[in-house]
Amino acid sequence: MNEEDTDDRSRRAQLAESLARVRERVDRACANVGRSPDEVALSAVTKTFPASDAALLADLGVTDLAENREQEARPKVAEFQRLRPGVRVRWHMVGQLQRNKARSVARWADVVESVDSGRLVEALRRAVGNALEAGERSAPLDVLLQVNLDQRTDRGGCSPGKVPELAEMMARMCEIQLCGVMAVAPLGEDPDVAFATLSGISERLRRDFPEAREVSAGMSGDLESAIAHGSTRVRVGTSLLGGRPLVSR
Ligand SMILES: *Cc1c(COP(=O)(O)O)cnc(C)c1O
Repeated sequence: MNEEDTDDRSRRAQLAESLARVRERVDRACANVGRSPDEVALSAVTKTFPASDAALLADLGVTDLAENREQEARPKVAEFQRLRPGVRVRWHMVGQLQRNKARSVARWADVVESVDSGRLVEALRRAVGNALEAGERSAPLDVLLQVNLDQRTDRGGCSPGKVPELAEMMARMCEIQLCGVMAVAPLGEDPDVAFATLSGISERLRRDFPEAREVSAGMSGDLESAIAHGSTRVRVGTSLLGGRPLVSR
C-alpha cells in the first residue's frame, strides 16, 4: 500500500466519523421538535477543500455538495468527475454570484441558492437556455432566493420585501425553477430570531408558489436552531471537513 492510499484511508475514516456526528446532530435536533430527519437534507460545503474530499464524501453517501466561489468550483467539479466517473451528485452554488459568471455556473451547478436580484435571474435564464441548447446541461436550473436577514450589512441576499417580485419573475421562466429560500443568520445575532423571520418569509412565499418549499438554513454553528424553525436543508462545512484557513470566505 503506498502513502497516498494510507492518506486517503485515514481521511475517509475522519470524514465518516464527522459525517456520523453531523447526522446525529440533525437527528437529535429533529427529535427535539418532533420532525422526521427525512425532512432535513444535508449539503456538504466543500469550499477550500480538494475534490478528493468531495469524492470521499460521495462514497460515504453524501448526495449534495456546495461551493461558494465560482472560480474554485468549476475546476473542482471537473476533477470530481475525473475521480468518480459516472457518480451523480448535485452541486449547489451558495456564494455571491456575479452576473458575468452566469454562463460558467450554468455549466456545472444543479442548484443556485444565492439568487438575489432580477438582473441575476435574467442572466441565469439566458445562460441556462444557452447551456441547454448547447447540450452542456440537461435540466432546468433549480434556484433558491437568498434573503438578507441583516439590515446592517450587505453580505448578499435580497430584502424580504423583494421576494414576491423575484418569485413572480421566475414563475414565467422554463429555464429556471424556483424551489424556495436560503439565508445565513447574521453574525453575532440570535439565530432563532433570524430563522423565525425566514420561516415567515417562506410561509408567505408558499401561499402563492406552493412548490417553492425548500428552506436552506443552518450551518455548523446553528443547524439546531434552523431545524427548529423549519429548515429543509442544512449546509455544513466546518463540522464535516474541519477548519478552513482564515483567508477563506
Ligand atoms: C461556508 C458556508 C457554509 C458552511 O459554513 P460552516 O460554518 O463551515 O458549516 C454554509 N453556507 C454558506 C453560504 C457558506 O458560505
